Amino acid sequence: MANLTLMSGRGEAEGYDPEVVRARYRAERDKRLVAGRADIRDLAEDAHFGAFRLDPFTPVAARDPQRDDVEVVIVGGGMAGILAGVQLRQAGIEQIRIVDQAGGLGGTWYWNRYPGVMCDVESYIYLPMLEELGYVPTSRYASGEEIRLHLQAIGDRFDLEANALFHTGVTRAAWDDRAARWRITTDRGDAFTTRYYVLAVGILNLMKLPAIAGMEQFQGQSFHTARWDYARTGGGPGEPLDDLGDKVVGLIGTGASGIQCLAPLAEAAQAVYVFQRTPSAVGVRGNRPTATEFAEARWPGWQQARMDNFQAVMLGQPVEADLTDDGWTRHYAAVHHPPRWKGMTLEEYLRNGEEVDYGIMEEHRRRVAEVVTDPVTAETLKPYYRYLCKRPCFHDEYLEAFNRANVTLVDCPAGIDRISEGGPVVNGETYDVDLLIYGTGFEAELTPLFRRAGHDIIGRGGVSLAEKWAPGATSLFGMMSRGFPNLFMMPAPGQQAVVTVSYTQLAVLGAQFIGGAVGILEQSGVRVFDVRAEAEEAWSQKIVDSFVDGSAVMSACTPSRINQEGNPQSLNPRNGNYGRGYGDYFGYRELLEQWLQRGDCEGLELEVGPVAR
Ligand code: NAP
Repeated sequence: MANLTLMSGRGEAEGYDPEVVRARYRAERDKRLVAGRADIRDLAEDAHFGAFRLDPFTPVAARDPQRDDVEVVIVGGGMAGILAGVQLRQAGIEQIRIVDQAGGLGGTWYWNRYPGVMCDVESYIYLPMLEELGYVPTSRYASGEEIRLHLQAIGDRFDLEANALFHTGVTRAAWDDRAARWRITTDRGDAFTTRYYVLAVGILNLMKLPAIAGMEQFQGQSFHTARWDYARTGGGPGEPLDDLGDKVVGLIGTGASGIQCLAPLAEAAQAVYVFQRTPSAVGVRGNRPTATEFAEARWPGWQQARMDNFQAVMLGQPVEADLTDDGWTRHYAAVHHPPRWKGMTLEEYLRNGEEVDYGIMEEHRRRVAEVVTDPVTAETLKPYYRYLCKRPCFHDEYLEAFNRANVTLVDCPAGIDRISEGGPVVNGETYDVDLLIYGTGFEAELTPLFRRAGHDIIGRGGVSLAEKWAPGATSLFGMMSRGFPNLFMMPAPGQQAVVTVSYTQLAVLGAQFIGGAVGILEQSGVRVFDVRAEAEEAWSQKIVDSFVDGSAVMSACTPSRINQEGNPQSLNPRNGNYGRGYGDYFGYRELLEQWLQRGDCEGLELEVGPVAR
């Protein structure tokens, strides 16, 4: 096995031959690059599987339709919507209405309650507003339930639920110039108006159900990990799944969700078949309870400082100490920003980066060999691609689960042949299962906002956001768009903002901007704002100019949602970020803060005047 010294940042892997490695990675990629691999069912239209979207957690309560006028409507009650609500509340807005299809607050943490669900980003930076709420997470990586309850606590503190409409999907939002309001209709018969409209719809909010031949024929039970049905499995989050003792379970998908739910499934079920198309790189998680010393040693501003430290490390910037010090900062950051020393040519830089990457992937492959006792299973679980080709995972019980007699790995790099009445068929063999669980993820983060929003957003002149953004995003700061007055979009990937590994950091930034901007607009007596054409064009041009075409590197990758399932050339420069690559987070933040400090609403057209009530 190759050895690597990462301390110096120089790839020094013994016996490393880039050509051999590239050929192996290519061969593995080609096994997976098959026609139809990305075909999915559109659950919004799907008569057979549409019910997969229903809420198994909260019964839908009858209510009368709303026909009123509020100051702000926020679509989405997840972290983004909650943080936007907090900032708007602090800007003096009294009437805030969150609208969400879920039965309560929490967004992704409302829906994803599968056994073992947790966030693999450190809790001390992922859970927002820890200082404000005086809360210290119980462990280094928090469970989904702990995160959901924390988000709920924020919602309670800032009274974001009283006026909320849950189990409600917006069907249309249209700007009415005469009334200077957005007119909103919903699938619950509501028809209300609002002065400001905030889209906080989420980035991984659309469940992805693959289109596999014959899947309607399956006679057993099935659901998606984002709608775990405890009525069928028994138990609850954090509790044993006590109805599975005599059941054979099939788990499709070995991404972040699949790997987190395997161990509890394996403990409870008679047998589990894990259908793996591509192995994840599963790094060490190293969870541990929060130390008393840590809980006691906090000082004002500690959380923001810790978030900034994480962000700096992830962007390859020098820090005194890596406070998070986990797989994200040690592996992801190292691969994303390999060192560049004086006199190094571009070719040397790229070659060294490739070797550093190889060393880290070897470490992951070695871990599999050390943990998994059956050599064939171990070999099948080894990831052969560059580290950034797929979102990395971190877990300490996933690989171990394959040492259990009741867990079988089914290798299907080209996908499942079909699903029969009994269960999935791979290489002609049927795997009979009682319960089939789709851990098949979500439509990619780059899914256009208008699709993620799931409703028509009609601006001035009857032009929809979908029409305007059909050639690519166009905005000011990734948060406002001309022709859509009094509308804010929480920043997200593919939307002319920046991308952060810990979404919380981006949500905090977006919420602070939106709250601050509304505060300024209100104080200035502004009735309507819109983006100036030249300001939007300048911002969009900045995004296009800094676009880095990574398609050559990404097309060598195993297909994944990160490279558009093997089509990286389909990335549109207009959907890029502020700054190169994932974007210049600190530069973006400074720019937004300065805009707020100046308070002159640069780049906006303002219509001042009384607001009709
Ligand atoms: P995912 O990473 O997209 O994984 C989906 C899995 O389903 C993959 O293993 C995929 O195989 C497999 N799959 C899809 N279509 C298939 C088909 N037709 N046949 C066989 N297998 C198929 O989804 P996820 O695990 O739900 O995670 C999604 C995202 O949610 C993560 O990337 C992350 O951003 C977020 N998340 C975060 C955490 C956290 O701890 N922070 C936890 C869970 C989720 P291929 O790999 O071959 O495509």
